[in-house]
Amino acid sequence: MMTAEEKRPYLVMATVDELAAFAKKSGIESYRAGQIERWVSKRWTVDPDAMTDLSQSARKLLPEHFLCNTVKVVSEHFSSDGAGKLLLELRDGELIECALIPAADGRMTFCLSTQVGCPVRCAFCSSGAGGFVRNLDAGEIVEQFFCACRKIHSLPDNVVIMGIGEPLLNLDNLIAALERICDPERVAFAARRVTISTSGWTPGIKQLALHGRQWNLAVSLHAPDDKTRALLIPTRFRRDIRDIIQACRLHREATTRLPTFEYVMLDSINDSTEQAAKLAKLAKEAGAKVNLIPYNKANGAFTRPSRETIKRFENTLKSAGVKVTVRVEKGADSAAACGQLRAFAKKEKLQ
Ligand code: SAH
Ligand code: SF4
Repeated sequence: MMTAEEKRPYLVMATVDELAAFAKKSGIESYRAGQIERWVSKRWTVDPDAMTDLSQSARKLLPEHFLCNTVKVVSEHFSSDGAGKLLLELRDGELIECALIPAADGRMTFCLSTQVGCPVRCAFCSSGAGGFVRNLDAGEIVEQFFCACRKIHSLPDNVVIMGIGEPLLNLDNLIAALERICDPERVAFAARRVTISTSGWTPGIKQLALHGRQWNLAVSLHAPDDKTRALLIPTRFRRDIRDIIQACRLHREATTRLPTFEYVMLDSINDSTEQAAKLAKLAKEAGAKVNLIPYNKANGAFTRPSRETIKRFENTLKSAGVKVTVRVEKGADSAAACGQLRAFAKKEKLQ
């Protein structure tokens, strides 16, 4: 369980000035603050013992002032196509997942979690199945990112906030984490290479628009009408499609970034040609691209449509002039859909 320790701020969230103040207060040489900053921001190292050029006393003092190295890799699951998932344990024993997804051209995408569990509880998703436990702290989101950077010894090309949880229900912490990662003086990850995926939580989309940073927005629409959508997102967190389109337009005006609609394809639920035509209309209204995601077996009594059905759906969108991609499956033999690894690990723990 968490203890009084949690009063300490996360090392990864300390500003350069705060590191300098730490050095001063602790009576260590001021240049040590710069060393710590480089270890954290340039080498993504959060364990003081691994900061080898730091004095012993500085290494010992750091954890007294800051929460260090709180996110631990419990297991790694890499599949033959190079896609991987890290199962990560937080300091209170909760588990999250982080995926590393290489593209055919060698580019690497990290997929980050923002919550332990998810309160939205979409009918087809493992992340929401066990309910909601808690939000991740900003420091935990940044440490998660750093865990993945250390794994590949570099920054990724893209970051998608599409792991466990509804990011816009933990928006303040997410913004703090992304600002930290995107600070040009520090980690310097490009804002335009970040995509935040939401189940359509419009208050959060509006807040993001006001924030104005050029992070991309992906909205999990999944159905072109509210009635079908209500079957898939059965909780109070579902907002009307009308409001979602309006919020998307606001976000687009504020950031100049085109939104994406994500659409999990479910056999006989949302895969008809009429639904494709309706979706095309909405996408054009919002200026959105569409990303079709063939359903991955998780919970719920759903099946994936046939290849032909997916192709037909895709073609209907294309011929209406909508940009559309079909998500290529990665890590099919081990990683699977978001939340599944955590759900499995939790079951194992219980047995
Ligand atoms: N909560 C956010 C982000 C995390 S989910 C959201 O819902 O957008 C990221 C994407 O994975 C969403 O589009 C979600 O609908 C999709 N997804 C979840 N479970 C899936 C499954 N079993 N098969 C295919 N896609 C799934
Ligand atoms: Fe939560 Fe997204 Fe899964 Fe829905 S699809 S339960 S919003 S993580």
